[in-house]
Amino acid sequence: MRYSKLISVLKPYTAGEQPKDKKYIKLNTNENAYPPSPAVKEAIGAVDYAELRLYPDPEATELCGALAQKHGVLSENIFTGNGSDEVLGFCFPAFFDRKEIGGVPVLFADVTYSFYPVYANLYQIPYEVVPLKEDYTVDIEDYAAKKNQGILLCNPNAPTGIAVPTEGIERLVKADRERLVLVDEAYADFGGVSAVPLTKKYDNLLVVRTFSKGASLAGIRCGYAVGAAGLIRALQTVKNSFNSYTLDKLTQKIAIAACKDTAYYDMINERISNIRDKASETLRKKGFTVLPSSSNFIFLKKDGIGGKELFLGLRERGVLVRYFAGARTGDFIRVTIGTEDETEIFIRTLCNLT
Ligand SMILES: *Cc1c(COP(=O)(O)O)cnc(C)c1O
Repeated sequence: MRYSKLISVLKPYTAGEQPKDKKYIKLNTNENAYPPSPAVKEAIGAVDYAELRLYPDPEATELCGALAQKHGVLSENIFTGNGSDEVLGFCFPAFFDRKEIGGVPVLFADVTYSFYPVYANLYQIPYEVVPLKEDYTVDIEDYAAKKNQGILLCNPNAPTGIAVPTEGIERLVKADRERLVLVDEAYADFGGVSAVPLTKKYDNLLVVRTFSKGASLAGIRCGYAVGAAGLIRALQTVKNSFNSYTLDKLTQKIAIAACKDTAYYDMINERISNIRDKASETLRKKGFTVLPSSSNFIFLKKDGIGGKELFLGLRERGVLVRYFAGARTGDFIRVTIGTEDETEIFIRTLCNLT
């Protein structure tokens, strides 16, 4: 059997585990600690099963309208996809070229969402990693100084949790109006400042967001991009060259209901941010280094013990977190902020371990 050359070299993304062997306190994949809005439950209850005979709206027109209203833009500025992972994936063929046809590197951080190099390799787009500073913050000028065909920033960054101020993003957008700045705002609902308002001013800025974290809907797979109409059209061209029906009917209805209930989501996400700040303080007092997080997880370490050791010790005691091997990440664990009770158990278990 003949396989493509590509298939033997691709290194796919490894998702956080979803184990079934026993009941864990699950703090490893940054899902929201609280359930989705009650409006979501209502929307699911109102579904007529017979409708599922028909294909969904391929343009997700009503959802785009609801998102446009939420963000103060037009429907032509919204693109929806099957999770923001898919939207990010579509961005590579939409905006970047392969080396053979003149593509220079796309830039992203050395410590960031590990799906970015996977997409780059899948679409054979050249990339260059730009090291974060010693303290794990982004140095905007490092990006501005390098030759590139686009910049991908995760803001707040994962797995560090650290946010870049929007002035930094605007600086990059203005540095070269011909190349795209792509901002992944998966965690922007936990205290970060969104760059969405800047998309009205600059046609080379695209912001990608998701319902998975802030809207507590990782189970439906819905993400979207906000940007100038030309950028959105390019994404539609890629989508319609791949799969016209990326969002199913149920997902569209659920996402519409969720995006209208901002009061509920503001409440739960503020609660998560408060638990995070309190937990960070407690852990610092106990001698841990906790990076300053603007997301629903914390990245922490303690001198004298490795991240893998912490991860395995917690796992054995029923608390699941995430560990990333590597020179700059191997000392740390990334821990999703759970409910008050889950967080208390995590802190107690961690302290018993160290
Ligand atoms: C979770 C996550 C996503 C993907 O979210 P989905 O919408 O569930 O595909 C994208 N980027 C980052 C940084 C994430 O952590």
